[in-house]
Amino acid sequence: MTIFCRDPAGRYLLVNRQFARHAGAAHPNEIVGKTDGELPWGDLFREEDDQILASGHPLLHQQQLCHGEESDYWIETHKVPLYDELGDPFALFGVVNEIGQHKALEQTFKQQQLLQRRLLDAIPDPIRLEDHDGRVLDCNQAFLDFMGLQASEVLGHNIGQHLPPQMPMGRGEYCLLDARGQGRHLEIIRVEVPDDNGLSLGVLTLSRDITGLRTTQAQLQQEQHYDSLTGLLKLSHFLQTSRHLGGRPAGLLLIDLQHFREINDRFGIRIADRLLSQVAQRLQRLTPANALLCRVAADDFALLLPEPGKPLLEWSQRLQEELMAPYQVEEHRIQVTAFLGIAQGRANDAERLLGHAEAALAEGKRLQQHSTLFDPLLYQQLQRRKRLSADLPQAIRSAELVAVYQPIICARQDKLHGAELLCRWPHPQLGMISPDEFIPLAEELGLIGRLGDLMLEQGCAQLARWQAVWPSLMLSVNLSPLQFRDPGLCDHVQACARRHGIAPATLELEITEGVLMENADEIEQNLSSLIRAGFQLAIDDFGTGYCSLAYLPRLEVATLKLDRSFTRDLVSNGATTAIVRSVIGLGHELGIQITAEGVETQEQHRWLSEAGCDRLQGYLFSRPLPPDEFGRSYGLGD
Ligand code: C2E
Ligand code: CA
Ligand code: CA
Repeated sequence: MTIFCRDPAGRYLLVNRQFARHAGAAHPNEIVGKTDGELPWGDLFREEDDQILASGHPLLHQQQLCHGEESDYWIETHKVPLYDELGDPFALFGVVNEIGQHKALEQTFKQQQLLQRRLLDAIPDPIRLEDHDGRVLDCNQAFLDFMGLQASEVLGHNIGQHLPPQMPMGRGEYCLLDARGQGRHLEIIRVEVPDDNGLSLGVLTLSRDITGLRTTQAQLQQEQHYDSLTGLLKLSHFLQTSRHLGGRPAGLLLIDLQHFREINDRFGIRIADRLLSQVAQRLQRLTPANALLCRVAADDFALLLPEPGKPLLEWSQRLQEELMAPYQVEEHRIQVTAFLGIAQGRANDAERLLGHAEAALAEGKRLQQHSTLFDPLLYQQLQRRKRLSADLPQAIRSAELVAVYQPIICARQDKLHGAELLCRWPHPQLGMISPDEFIPLAEELGLIGRLGDLMLEQGCAQLARWQAVWPSLMLSVNLSPLQFRDPGLCDHVQACARRHGIAPATLELEITEGVLMENADEIEQNLSSLIRAGFQLAIDDFGTGYCSLAYLPRLEVATLKLDRSFTRDLVSNGATTAIVRSVIGLGHELGIQITAEGVETQEQHRWLSEAGCDRLQGYLFSRPLPPDEFGRSYGLGD
């Protein structure tokens, strides 16, 4: 530090050792009495000194870069004028510090600040720091741009009125308008910034613009939820949306356009697509605003009407007519056929309603009826059919199906002649299922052969045990017409009988009239092979089909089983009485035995016996029985 004191004329009154050294003198005394003119720097400061003395204003903290011999250096100067008691200046007191180090630090600091500024401004996300009163202490350019404000309007000001009130600390997402009035999605993080002492300096708010991300997400959602061709809801979103509609009453229409594949083939996919979107537009126009419309599949649409209020069937018929009015697609005039299935229920139960509407639609198509209301009874039947079809294969595989036996009585002697094997399915959940229900299913599913084998096996095994007690006991087994298409049928039956030691003559195979009427070679083959092998043939349900009597002698049929409808009407209907009498007569002429089915009353029993009917079967004698019960009832053992 150099210290000096000069009088108003610039003559040195006092200097310190440092000053003297600086001026090139060995001792301060060498300087005292001299003026600047005699020193190395000359009159450089003269004018300045005069000004200070004249104005009376001290000069403080003046910083200057000096050019030394070896290097440049910075100094800081303070000069204070001194006055006597009369107020006249008598001296100028000065202190000069070399501030090289201080200056360098300051410059580094400035550079760092600049760098920090640049960095902050280069960040595209708005950042601001505010004190606890909400005054902005600092912010970056992105923040100013977002707000559309100048730094001077922001720094030191409370700009709370521009921002959403009460942004909590931590992370949050906000939708704000930027300076250009555009909505932006911002992810905002707010954290306390501590000062050196660990006290809170203020709150730093970092915002990230995630508008792009959110827009893409929204687009993706649109694609996920809406069909791109028609703009209608996709099925998944339709169902999801309907769940929020609550339990209010609703109607659901399923609309199925017909022959769309042909339209595709004939006009090409482009025209077909345009047609579909026109159909969708028409649907939108024709449906109330609160309806949910969805494209279920290529050419199927669903429509959920909350609180329909009007009779749905009529409304649906009108909709169907309007949908079938021709469409003009470019130069083509195209007409489509639509079938509609209608279901009613609760709005939040759309999935089930859709199933119901589907069932109604299927039924409508079967009946060629354009609008069809769901019929719960029919649906239950269909559901049950589906369930049974699904369970039947396993039931057959695991021999869940069992045989019951109904006695056949010899009319003349009033004693047991034999038994008819009837199949039962004790379903684990649905209870006992009648063969009238599952035999057609087994036929449809191609399982009747295996079912027949299973029953024949059970029947022969049982018959063998009973014949041990009663050797001439007959067993009648029902065969499906489809089994006769299997060329191996006869071999199979023969093998089974042989395996159990059953004489073919004690096994009667019941077939329906239809089998005789079919002209297929396998059937003829099977029938004649079975007869040749010695099995008895019975025509079941005789009188319900169109059997040509001419077949009977040729095929050596042993028995005609008169259908139970004849037995029922016997006493009341004169024509039936006549038919039955003549069938018995004709049968006997041809050497054929007659069994009457469905004998329920003593009156029928008496009449049939008197008319010469050979055998009787029916509830009057017994219902079909499980084998042990049958055995006990007829003294055949268990
Ligand atoms: P079906 O061969 O005409 O058998 C006679 C049906 O009449 C049996 O019904 C029997 O329980 C019933 N029935 C017997 N007596 C009376 C009566 O007095 N009154 C009335 N109302 N009904 C009586 P089920 O057991 O339900 O069998 C129905 C049909 O299922 C059978 O008619 C037969 O066509 C078929 N079926 C039964 N088991 C088999 C089988 O193992 N294989 C094949 N392919 N079909 C079978
Ligand atoms: Ca039968
Ligand atoms: Ca029958």
